[in-house]
Amino acid sequence: KPRIFSGIQPSADSLHIGNYIGALQQWESMQDDYDAIFCIVDLHAITVPQDPKALRDATRTLAVQYIAAGIDPARSTMFVQSQVPAHAQLAWILNGITGFGEAGRMTQFKDKSARNGADAASVGLFTYPVLMAADILLYDTELVPVGDDQKQHVELARDLAQRFNSRFGETFVVPKPQIQKETARIYDLQIPTAKMSKSAATDSGIVWMLDEPAVIAKKIRSAVTDTGREVRFDRGEKPGVSNLLAILSAFRGVPIATLEAEYEGRGYGDFKRDVADAVVDAFGPIRERTLELQADPAEVDRILTTSAQRAHDLASAKLAQVHEAVGLYPSL
Ligand code: ATP
Ligand code: MG
Repeated sequence: KPRIFSGIQPSADSLHIGNYIGALQQWESMQDDYDAIFCIVDLHAITVPQDPKALRDATRTLAVQYIAAGIDPARSTMFVQSQVPAHAQLAWILNGITGFGEAGRMTQFKDKSARNGADAASVGLFTYPVLMAADILLYDTELVPVGDDQKQHVELARDLAQRFNSRFGETFVVPKPQIQKETARIYDLQIPTAKMSKSAATDSGIVWMLDEPAVIAKKIRSAVTDTGREVRFDRGEKPGVSNLLAILSAFRGVPIATLEAEYEGRGYGDFKRDVADAVVDAFGPIRERTLELQADPAEVDRILTTSAQRAHDLASAKLAQVHEAVGLYPSL
């Protein structure tokens, strides 16, 4: 089976609708046809300040959310990045073949560093895409299912794989991104031109997977729309309505055009209520399952460590090849 790899940062204690649609929902459906590896990328999370205890708890809670959303640890490998040292080791080696200007063109760094002022941004945040390339390349990954915000980073991973192969000999598989078209980027409900992000400031604009059903309904009811009445997909004129259409389309699994026809001549009230119902129907059971699984943290850690062992074996074999190709001493 072809290999897929993807990851999410434990940068908050719940995932949000964007992570679900951009990542988890896609992952869940790919488990049978692919050899799937899903990582909890805690080394990425520490590129911005994190509270140590909160980070470790969020890491375990994220693993629980993977399982609650349908990732099956018996079929898929799911592990914590920091348990497999090869990620950091390969990232260092790839840093040596990445241009400073090339890294400087990554828009996520520009966005995230702009939030707190460029001087407050860490060097880790700057080289984050190189670590992400290492994550992907260690496992001979063919496809990387992500949201559209990660497209540029997967492109960098492709460039680095090709560059390494041509300089040091065939070593890496050149990966491709897999991105759903219309729903690839979910926006903040209050600022429908800004990406919904775990680390963004407005809680009212983010629908968390672990929000209580009543809270989800309220946030969706209060989502910013416009003064018109038409439920129509138009990112320029109607960003709020378009965002809700994308959400409903992903949760119901029907095309946006079908929804536009369904809501023709009906107001925003009906439409928002249906969006809220669709999200609550999907997230309600995930939330309950998460709360159940959280009761047994030792079992979660056991699952993660078993998976990490498999990842460690695969990654160490690739790293040994890399050391050989580059002229480094064999790792112990
Ligand atoms: P952070 O603010 O800490 O960067 P995040 O919400 O951007 O958090 P990540 O852990 O960076 O989440 O990304 C995990 C996955 O979720 C990636 O595949 C990413 O493309 C996807 N993703 C993140 N935000 C969205 C969004 N708004 N719409 C669709 N996909 C998203
Ligand atoms: Mg992000």
